[in-house]
Amino acid sequence: MATAIKKGSALQFYKELTSPNNITYKQPIGLYIGGEFVASKSGKVFDVISPSTEERITQVYEAGDADVDSAVIAAEKGFAKWSEMTPYERGCALIKVAEKIEENSELFATVETWDNGKALSMARDDVKLVAQTFRYYAGWCDKISGKVVEIDNDTFNYIRREPIGVCGAIIPWNFPLAMLSWKIAPALAAGNSMILKSAESTPLTALLFADMLREVPEIPKGTINILSGYGAAGGAIVAHPGIKKIAFTGSTATGRKILKGAADSNLKKVTLELGGKSPNIVFNDAKLDEAVESVLFGIFYNQGEVCCAGTRLFVQEGIYDTFLEMLKKRALELKVGDPFDPTVSYGAQTNKLQFDKVLEYIAQGKKEGKVLTGGSRIGEKGFYIEPTIFTDVDRNAVVATEEIFGPVLSVIKFKDADEALKFANESDYGLAAGVHTTNIEKALYVAQHVKSGTVWINTYHAMHPQLPFGGYKLSGNGRELGEEVLNNYLETKAVRIAGISTGLGAPKLN
Ligand code: NAD
Repeated sequence: MATAIKKGSALQFYKELTSPNNITYKQPIGLYIGGEFVASKSGKVFDVISPSTEERITQVYEAGDADVDSAVIAAEKGFAKWSEMTPYERGCALIKVAEKIEENSELFATVETWDNGKALSMARDDVKLVAQTFRYYAGWCDKISGKVVEIDNDTFNYIRREPIGVCGAIIPWNFPLAMLSWKIAPALAAGNSMILKSAESTPLTALLFADMLREVPEIPKGTINILSGYGAAGGAIVAHPGIKKIAFTGSTATGRKILKGAADSNLKKVTLELGGKSPNIVFNDAKLDEAVESVLFGIFYNQGEVCCAGTRLFVQEGIYDTFLEMLKKRALELKVGDPFDPTVSYGAQTNKLQFDKVLEYIAQGKKEGKVLTGGSRIGEKGFYIEPTIFTDVDRNAVVATEEIFGPVLSVIKFKDADEALKFANESDYGLAAGVHTTNIEKALYVAQHVKSGTVWINTYHAMHPQLPFGGYKLSGNGRELGEEVLNNYLETKAVRIAGISTGLGAPKLN
């Protein structure tokens, strides 16, 4: 893919780079509009910084309003062709996308690690999920259908499911490639075209993905358009009357702006996958060794930069002291460092802003609770932070209520299931929850009453494309993944024909 530039390609839109693990490849840096890499109309570029070294990797073009206009024109042309293909043809094309991702998985994982800071092993897992997501939605292409509705013997009635048209996606920097797949795969399965804006901190793998599409000519040019840029470009997508739907993942503050922007423009449909402050509950009867691993993975996976991270740990009083001892021992064994080092568990925070924000929260936590582990940055170069656990935290403390989006856990004691539920549900957020117990009835009781879009029992972060994902309360609107997300990308049309029957009653035959 990226290494095989065909004759006549616009070479100035690629930069030859060598990654820290010595993979040399050609990184696209242009905006991907109408099947080509192009410069931004303003000519503006911005720096892409490696969070593990704080050095510049490259520069990429920055989209502005005029580029969004061009992308909409291209996406309308793409939509006209893609939506006319048969569902079977669309499914085959999406399977090919999955195959190409798998063929290039090591390059994708490498660039994701370089750009985002996550451990290479984790980036490899992300890439597997990306291919799986495209395969899953490829399977949906020819299973989306309407139905016939029997009403009376004078009319024939049916319901059609139709693609919406040009859709927009605005994604964050914590799972750049995975978020791309969660948006593009279902949008295309439903027959739409897409304009995706990557996050300003992590534009590289989305551009590699765009480059890979050259090897999938079955997807017409303009069906997928990728823009690198800041919030202003996101705002232009939200305001554009040619875009009929927006899927957003990111902060609750930006989610609010997007809802307002949609209301002020063409009332485009909006789905929001926002922040969280998810509870993780450990009962006295849990398998403690397994629960410790699950709790640590729940909070420190991806350096804590996960919207559904289990950031509030509720431990039942009977095991509180024992569990904290166990947690501390294992947390101190976690290795944070160079994400390309195969022995590290976790890498660097993704950007300076986030790094500083997490360190501020840690300073606040030191005033609000006791430090069980961590509490400092690691080294002087790179955005590394120790896995940090605070105990004796008040439920209303800042660190126990606000989304930190970093490797910071607050531990709180509880008496019984109802108290755990009360504490869990106090949050303004409601994205996910974890429950650890050997009593299935207790687990199901909590699962039924906890206000969150996902509940993991004796596990955590167990995502799967077949299961819908999204939040209650300030964690968002609508769901991603599963069959459910397809509704966000489809219009429903009722058709009623007078004078013919679906077969109800006596036939009107001569
Ligand atoms: P953000 O919400 O500002 O950015 C997410 C995406 O939205 C980016 O692509 C950004 O360019 C775009 N954007 C920003 N302002 C916009 C606007 N006005 N209109 C349209 N698009 C806009 O998130 P951030 O600043 O990168 O991170 C801030 C906080 O958000 C984090 O500390 C964390 O708490 C939270 N966050 C949540 C998630 C998640 O998965 N839910 C992901 C990233 C960040």
